[in-house]
Amino acid sequence: MSEVVELLQRLIRVDTTNPPGNETTAAELLRAYLEANGVACEMYAKVPDRANLVARIPGAGGPSLALLSHTDVVIADPAEWERDPFGGELVDGEVWGRGALDMKGQVAATAVALGSLAREGFRPSGDLIFVAAADEEVGDGFGLPWLCSEHPDAVRADYSLNEGGGERLDLDGKAVWVCAAAEKMSAPFRLGVHGRSGHASMPGIADNALLKAAALVEKLGAYRPEPRLEPEVAALLQAVAGSVPEDPSELVPFARAIDRQLSDLIEPLLSLTFAPTMIEASRKRNVIPALCEVTVDSRLLPGQTVDEQLELARTVLGDGDYELESIEAQGGTRSPMESLLWDAVASFVADQDPGAAVAPVCVSGFTDSHWMRDAFGTVAYGFFPARAMPPEEAALLIHSANERVPVDDLELGVRFLRHAAHAMLG
Ligand SMILES: [Zn+2]
Repeated sequence: MSEVVELLQRLIRVDTTNPPGNETTAAELLRAYLEANGVACEMYAKVPDRANLVARIPGAGGPSLALLSHTDVVIADPAEWERDPFGGELVDGEVWGRGALDMKGQVAATAVALGSLAREGFRPSGDLIFVAAADEEVGDGFGLPWLCSEHPDAVRADYSLNEGGGERLDLDGKAVWVCAAAEKMSAPFRLGVHGRSGHASMPGIADNALLKAAALVEKLGAYRPEPRLEPEVAALLQAVAGSVPEDPSELVPFARAIDRQLSDLIEPLLSLTFAPTMIEASRKRNVIPALCEVTVDSRLLPGQTVDEQLELARTVLGDGDYELESIEAQGGTRSPMESLLWDAVASFVADQDPGAAVAPVCVSGFTDSHWMRDAFGTVAYGFFPARAMPPEEAALLIHSANERVPVDDLELGVRFLRHAAHAMLG
C-alpha cells in the first residue's frame, strides 16, 4: 500500500475533533514518521494537548517555502455516516474518514513529500518548512496565529502553500485549475434595533423592536451591491474566456453564458455580502421586546474597510432607531499573481494536464494563509490538486458525512508538493 495512504489512515484514526482538538497526538504521529525519515522536528504548544508541529529541511539561505496544514477536524456524527468516521478505511480506491479532504489528506501528502525528499538527500536552496498547525477550525488562538506572534522564527517563510484551492474545473470544455491567491475579509456586525416594551396582549401600547427589525432585515436581504471587478476575477475570466466585459454589471451574465459553475464562483467575489443569520428579541412570549439584536455575517473584498462596510449598511437601512456595531474583522489579504510560486503551480499543471489553464480565485471563506500574509508578507496560495473527485462532490463532503478522498488525488498531491519543492528550492 502506498505510503501516503497508510499515513492518512493512521491520522484519521487519531480523533482530533475540535473542540477539544487534542492535536498533540497527531503531531506526535507526524513527528515519529518524519524523524524516521531524517527530518528535524520541533513541537510548539500553548497548552500541552494542542501542539503544533514544525519540521524543516534546512536550506542554504535562499527564499524559503512553507507547506501549511492543520491537524484538527470538525465534529462527525457516526449515525450519519456509512462508515466509521475515525476508521480510515480504504474502499474502492478511496480513504474514508473525517478530515480526508479537510485536511488530513494534505497533511499526509505533505509529510510524505518531505519524508521522501529527505530520504533522497534533497538539499534545498532555502528552508523547506512543514507546519502542521492546531486549531484552524475553531480559531481559539492555539494554532498558526499564535505561532506567527509567539514563534515567528519557526514559521516565517517567503512563500507558502496551504488548503483553499487546487480544484480542476471543467468550464464549457476548458480545464481550469484554480489557485487561491486572495481571501475575503470576514467582518460580521450586530444590528441593534430599539423600541419600547409592553404587554403583548395590548400591542398598540408598545413599540415592537422585533417588527422594526424585520423590516430592516428585509432591506439587507433585498440589497444588491454594485459589482466591482477585482484582479483575481479578471484573471480568471481572461483564462477561461480570453476576454473580460468592461461593464462590471455584465460580469455575472457573461460568466453564466459560459458555465453556471463560473458565475456561481465569481458572484460572491464581485462585492461585499450581507447575510443576516441570527436574531434575538424578547425572552418572554408575553412581553413585547424593547430591543432586537440581529447578527449579520458579512464578507468584504480585500482592501475594503469596516468603516466603508458600516457606512454602506447605514445607507441600505436608512434612518431608524438602531445602531450598528462591528463584531470582528479577520482576513481580507491577497498575494500577487505573478511569482515564482505561481510559476511552480503553472509548470505542474502544464506537465500533468497539457492545455489546461491555471487561474486565481479569491476565496470567500477564511484560511490560515491570511496569517502568513499578514505577519510576514508571505506570498501565500491555496493549492492542493484534486482531479479524481469532481469539485462539486468534494464540496458536499467537506464538514459533512461520508468524507473521503481518492488515493489518486493523494498521490497527485504528493507529486505536486515534491514538484513545488524542486521548482522553488532545487
Ligand atoms: Zn481546513
